Amino acid sequence: MPTSPALRRMADFDLGPEQRAVRETVREFAEKEILPHVERHEREERYPTELVAKLVPMGLIAPMIPEEYGGSFVDVVTYGIICEELARVDWVVASVVSVMNSLVVSSIRAHGTEAQRERWLPPMARGEVLCSACLTEPGGGTDLGNLRTTARKVDGGYRIEGTKVFISHAAHAGLFLVVATLDRSRKHRGVTAFLVDPRSTAGITIRDFPMRTLKRDNLAEVHFEDAFVPDDALLGEEGGGFPVLGAALDMGRFSVAARCVGQAQRCLDLAIPYATLREAFGQKIGEFQMIQQKIADMVCRTEAARQVVYRLGRMKDAGIERATLEASLAKLMASEAATQNALDAIQIHGGYGLSAEYEVGRLLLEAKALEFGEGTSELHRKLVAEFALGIRKQ
Ligand SMILES: Cc1cc2nc3c(=O)[nH]c(=O)nc-3n(C[C@H](O)[C@H](O)[C@H](O)COP(=O)(O)OP(=O)(O)OC[C@H]3O[C@@H](n4cnc5c(N)ncnc54)[C@H](O)[C@@H]3O)c2cc1C
Repeated sequence: MPTSPALRRMADFDLGPEQRAVRETVREFAEKEILPHVERHEREERYPTELVAKLVPMGLIAPMIPEEYGGSFVDVVTYGIICEELARVDWVVASVVSVMNSLVVSSIRAHGTEAQRERWLPPMARGEVLCSACLTEPGGGTDLGNLRTTARKVDGGYRIEGTKVFISHAAHAGLFLVVATLDRSRKHRGVTAFLVDPRSTAGITIRDFPMRTLKRDNLAEVHFEDAFVPDDALLGEEGGGFPVLGAALDMGRFSVAARCVGQAQRCLDLAIPYATLREAFGQKIGEFQMIQQKIADMVCRTEAARQVVYRLGRMKDAGIERATLEASLAKLMASEAATQNALDAIQIHGGYGLSAEYEVGRLLLEAKALEFGEGTSELHRKLVAEFALGIRKQ
């Protein structure tokens, strides 16, 4: 929600009263309960376990889990607003909600058996089980049809062998959504999805995946060494990993894009008061046209991204199963808006933009990271161009 009343009206114009109320509630909660701890956690490189626990009584941990499984099910646009408002204050807390509700819950709802839904969804809704998506490998994350992690059929289950990298939340998760190939020669038709309990599966080792920044996220390498998973860990069919991911893909891109809108908004919310207070040459820097141009560009990017994200949410609420083009547009526009807004916000702060005293410097690397997850900008440009040229239909 933008700083000034005029911007606020624009952002909220097409939301219903309940959606606006959710935004107010989540924003107030996030600013009061989460924001005051984020910079300290950043300095301590600490995963926000206590902050995630606070989401549970608020019903914010499981907005995509149906009520019959203990969730607080809401419409997709409202889910986007939750992701947006959480990401506006904390990248990591928003990531916990979005990985769980988009990638994992969507896959289980669309392709899980009733037994899998009953086993996994209620503890997730109670906040007892967090989730990780184990997709990316050292050899690459974009070309998922070319996986090297293998699953070998054995009596009563499968043996998984391979390494996943960049895995968010892995050391804290009670459920991994893992993709592995049953037969590399079959390319994407060999890719198979599994629901793996990392706490009770022998042969899984989780190691720190050192990052230059984003250390609060505790990214991990996950090694599967002949790890046995039972038959009922199979999600969907053998070789059906791509349809499983496909069901989750639009939702994954939606929630990441919504998070990017929140981050783009945060940059604006920090840059506007700074430009209003800071003085140079006897006037407020917000009176200089070059600063005003940056503020205007930041507003344009944020609003444009928000509209394409909400449109995707409304399409999903209308029951449109695949919205690949709209999902790519939303993810591409919102993630690049967040990065560019962070750059502009840093510039408006001058040297302080990179000081530990101000938040904007941290926002840049967090925004940049969201240009990779759920498909890189290059992948989405490729998809958008292929739709535009008629090379791709869906
Ligand atoms: C902070 C963070 C958190 C993450 N969390 C997770 C997680 O929880 N689970 C998980 O599985 N992964 C996670 N990832 C990994 C992320 O999904 C991958 O980084 C991403 O999929 C890209 O894969 P890659 O890094 O191996 O790049 P590559 O696939 O090696 O690509 C390298 C470059 O080539 C470009 N490229 C590739 N193919 C094409 C093409 N066809 N046309 C044009 N350009 C192309 C890419 O866009 C990129 O610029 C995370 C990453 C980060 C940074």
